Amino acid sequence: MKKIIQDYNLKELEELVAEMGEKPFRAKQLYDGIMRGHNISDIPALPKAFSEKLEEQFEDCPLEIVKTLTSSDGTEKYLFRLADGNIIEGVFMKYKYGNTQCVSTQVGCRMGCKFCASTLGGLVRNLSSGEILSQVLKVNALHGGTPKQRQVTNVVLMGSGEPLDNYDNVIKFLRDLAAEGGINISPRNVSLSTCGLVPQMYKLAEEGLPVNLTVSLHNVTDDERARTMPIAKRYKIGEILSACTNYFKKTGRRYIFEYSLIEGENADEAHAKALIELLKGRPCHVNLIRLNEVKERKLMAASERGAQTFLKTLTDGGISATLRRRMGADIGGACGQLRASFTKI
Ligand code: SAH
Repeated sequence: MKKIIQDYNLKELEELVAEMGEKPFRAKQLYDGIMRGHNISDIPALPKAFSEKLEEQFEDCPLEIVKTLTSSDGTEKYLFRLADGNIIEGVFMKYKYGNTQCVSTQVGCRMGCKFCASTLGGLVRNLSSGEILSQVLKVNALHGGTPKQRQVTNVVLMGSGEPLDNYDNVIKFLRDLAAEGGINISPRNVSLSTCGLVPQMYKLAEEGLPVNLTVSLHNVTDDERARTMPIAKRYKIGEILSACTNYFKKTGRRYIFEYSLIEGENADEAHAKALIELLKGRPCHVNLIRLNEVKERKLMAASERGAQTFLKTLTDGGISATLRRRMGADIGGACGQLRASFTKI
């Protein structure tokens, strides 16, 4: 694979342009074209000789939308093909307050959660910062957005992959995403979801990137959690909660817990009560969602009624919580479902 120009920020492009013996203003032209989601070959401002020289070293199109599915609720799901032929997926959701793009951070995943389709074939490779950024740039462009008039206003790192398992590239992505003069999406409009990699959660708190930290909790005791999430054997819920407290102290940001309701696993009244005890008094919010059933997995979603009861128990117990709609359930909304069916892993 050639290098990826989207991995470069403006300063790095200025150095590149200088090394290549081009006029300095070409860096800004190149950067503006990239931020508009263009491939190198279709940035109109660049002289042909220069773009051809670039294409000798860099992928013209590191990420291409090869399939779009539109749900009855307006959610769009994409399959992206990377330059090496790997497939990843992304989702675009319209909300009243803006549009959210869900990005992948790895091809596959090595965390092994039993309910998740992304991890079925294990980890293939990390995405580079530019490959993550390109998902946002391409989808923004697809919807007629530009860096100044964004169509993507919020980003969630909830596609395939464990973001904190690809730490350096994800941090570079967050900085490049927020760069002024670029697409300029602030960390405050970004949610990073982790299965709970405790050391990296502490590291993240020191980056000066106040993203919304979201932790996939999905159970109330370490033993039960370990039944569906192997990472629970490594990091205890108590350690995760301490890392969240530290994150709040350092960033002032309230944190969020994801809790996918699985019948017979984590969704009964006793779990709701235990969750209240665990989270009482914490500056946090709980996002409940009924499991998106994955064909390759045996687990079943909790009933709609059961989910409503769980929600009521939590809120009556003083916990801030919402039950999310399963957006795009008719188009393989859950992580990795679409890729799994496309690539037949
Ligand atoms: N690896 C990160 C981010 C990826 S997934 C993490 O673990 O947080 C985003 C969220 O979707 C996570 O909370 C994940 O546990 C959840 N998820 C995965 N598969 C799901 C499914 N089939 N139904 C409901 N939620 C699912």
